Amino acid sequence: MFSILWNVLLRHKCPRCHCGDLFIRPFSLKTAFQMHERCPCCGLDFNPEPGFYFGAMFISYIITGWLFVLAAFALIYLGHVDVNLALGIVVVGAIPLYLFFFRLGRAAWLAINFKYSPEAHERCCKK
Ligand SMILES: [Zn+2]
Repeated sequence: MFSILWNVLLRHKCPRCHCGDLFIRPFSLKTAFQMHERCPCCGLDFNPEPGFYFGAMFISYIITGWLFVLAAFALIYLGHVDVNLALGIVVVGAIPLYLFFFRLGRAAWLAINFKYSPEAHERCCKK
């Protein structure tokens, strides 16, 4: 479980082997949304069918929606900030976090759909 959280969700590694990168590196704003078509290590197809990442959109929407609603309520009730100012802070704060939640949603969707394979990990990562 910790391995999935660390390798797939936070480091954006392949859900099957936990070695290959999901996204093209090095990071730049031009390539921020580009993924590898296949895992560079184990060959897992990251686009198994058209519209595969439609579910990832819901994951990132649910996470960001709840997070920003909770942040707005915290600002309003704990920080005693005006409602309009709290919503403005949350919206402005959401802009730089968009890329992080986009990648998190895609990584989580892949982790839901593909299981970890110790054999693929041994074959790819222990070279
Ligand atoms: Zn892989």
